[in-house]
Order: sequence, then C-alpha cells, then structure tokens
Amino acid sequence: MRFIDRDEVARRLTWEMCIPIVREAMIAFSRGETKQLLRSIVPLSDGRLFGIMPGAMGAHAPFGAKLISVFHDNFARGIQSHQGLVILFDPESGAPVCVVDAGEITAIRTAAASAVATDALARKDARRLAILGYGEQAATHGRAIGKVREIESAVVWGRSFERAEAFAARMQAELSLPFSAAPSVKETVAEADIICTVTSAAEPILKGEWVRPGTHLNLVGSSHAGPAEVDNDLVVHSRFIVDSREGVLNQGAEFLRAKAAGLIGDEHIVAEIGQVLAGEIEGRRSADEITVYKSLGHVVQDLASAWALYSQPDKAS
Ligand code: NDP
Repeated sequence: MRFIDRDEVARRLTWEMCIPIVREAMIAFSRGETKQLLRSIVPLSDGRLFGIMPGAMGAHAPFGAKLISVFHDNFARGIQSHQGLVILFDPESGAPVCVVDAGEITAIRTAAASAVATDALARKDARRLAILGYGEQAATHGRAIGKVREIESAVVWGRSFERAEAFAARMQAELSLPFSAAPSVKETVAEADIICTVTSAAEPILKGEWVRPGTHLNLVGSSHAGPAEVDNDLVVHSRFIVDSREGVLNQGAEFLRAKAAGLIGDEHIVAEIGQVLAGEIEGRRSADEITVYKSLGHVVQDLASAWALYSQPDKAS
C-alpha cells in the first residue's frame, strides 16, 4: 500500500491542481453524484476533537475516509492543529490502496475551496484581501485567493499584533505583495473586498456592521455546531451560500445561531456552491451585495485530492 507523506502532498498538490479538483468535486457533490455521511465528531479532553469523515466520489468511484484530530492548542506549540490520514479504497477491488497525510491535504483543499467560491462570488474587481487569523489556513488562504483574483494588498488580524506583523512580513516576502497587520478586526476589514475568517474563535470576532457592501466572505474557521466567527447581523444581511446545505443545517454554527435567534429560516441558504458553479442558481446578483461562502469542509474534497495524488504520476520520481 502506498503512503503519501506531508512533504509529498505539499510538493505535488499545487493550486493549479487542487482548485479545479475541488471545483469539480463540489459540482458532483451538489448533483448528488458523490456520497458521504455527516461528519462524526468524538469530543476529547479540553476541547480537542477527533473527526471521522467517510465518503465516496461516486457509486463506481474511489471511496474512503478521513480520520482527523483537531487539537487547537497545538498552534501555540508550533504543531499542526489538524493531523490525520486520508485512506483511499480502489473502486474495482474494494482494497485499500493508499494512505495520505490529511493535515496537509486539509490545509490546501480548504483554501482551494475558498478560492473556488471566491472566484464564483467575489466581484471581478476585488483587489483587497483581509485575513482574520494567522495560522495554517491563513497562510494557505493568502496563497490561494491570489490564484483567482488580482490581489493588490492584504491585511491580517490576530489576537497578538506581534504575531500578525510577523505573519504579514512572511507572506509579503513569499508573495511579493503588500501585506500588513492591523490592530483591530474593524480596521482590518474596513477596505476589504474579500474577507477570509480562519480562526479558532469560539465567539464572533467580526460584526456585520464593519463589512462594506459588495464584500465577499469565506467563513472557514468554524466547522462544527458550536464556535462562531461572525455575528447574526452579517449572516442576516448576506447572500448566504454554503458548501453543503445538509451540513450547514446541522453543523453551520453561524447559520444555526441566527436561526435560533429567530432571524432567519432554512430558506436563508440560497444555494450550495456546487449549484452556483453549475449555473443552476445565481451567485452574486449585484456589485453591492455581501456574499458569504460558509465552509465546513467535506471528505469529497479530501478524497478527490488524494486520488489525484495517488493516480497521477509524480513527475519528480
Ligand atoms: P491554526 O491552529 O493553525 O490557527 C488557528 C488560528 O486561530 C490562529 O491564528 C490563532 O491565533 C487563532 N485563534 C485561536 N483562538 C482564537 C480566538 N479565540 N479568537 C481569535 N483568534 C483565535 O488552525 P488552522 O489555520 O489550521 O485552522 C483555522 C480554523 O479553521 C480552525 O478553527 C479549524 O478548525 C478551521 N478549519 C476549517 C476547515 C474547513 O474546511 N472549514 C478545515 C480546516 C480547518 P491565536 O491563538 O494567537 O489567537
């Protein structure tokens, strides 16, 4: 059985490879061609989680599961907070054929999914990026969004201004793009056209009243019912598009909070991103609209990425 380690994923799962893979996976997902169970989460001690995500890319297609631990406190220790394995099974024989490092796939495919959504939903002239958080997803989002829009500048916020500044300096050097840190969330998003929320915040850090008309947001940091990064006002006043309707109805914390407050109903979810990508439902309708992509993350993104790494030749070997 083949093992694809973290270094190989990082080297081979490029944005040019992953963005189209995730795009096609989300279209297939919304057409009902892929299969998956709702993510199961085993709570461990001190807010740590163990996630189990089984699925299939189709009835006669590769299938498997992602097993992933989420240890948020790892960030302070300099270790990946998401670690695990994607296990791939062959659709012809039913045999397990490959095991892939899931931390690295998760880092890349999540940002690729946000890039796909940004391409579909952000204004064509969106140029200014704001990132809330300075962890692994912040870095991959900084890289990925620039693949779908001509980003001219970026601003980052985090609870430690010093760490935000250090992150901005690293990203500026890597991407050759003006990257700065701001001391508050409000200042970070004040001029933004695209906002990515990629924190482990338990309670909202971003208020709707701070977001300019015409902004597109990728809400990524909360991937289960519980923690929420944005307030009800933002949810209510946005065109709310999700990766999975069933997923968000069950596990989309920001949506569930606004619903529990009696401010919205299930119909507030206007579309899955796969429906927008397939041209079935309109995404952005005007230059003034605030669009939201609520990301929970789905195993079809992991399986499709892992299968491409397994089935395509490694040009370096
Ligand atoms: P990291 O651990 O690398 O980074 C976490 C970031 O959140 C850091 O910037 C950390 O900085 C910040 N943070 C932690 N607590 C708070 C808080 N209370 N308020 C504000 N910021 C906070 O994680 P990742 O970058 O890998 O993931 C980011 C988030 O995205 C996580 O919550 C993760 O579970 C989620 N995620 C979602 C996926 C999806 O598909 N939707 C996939 C993968 C991850 P500091 O502690 O210094 O404030």
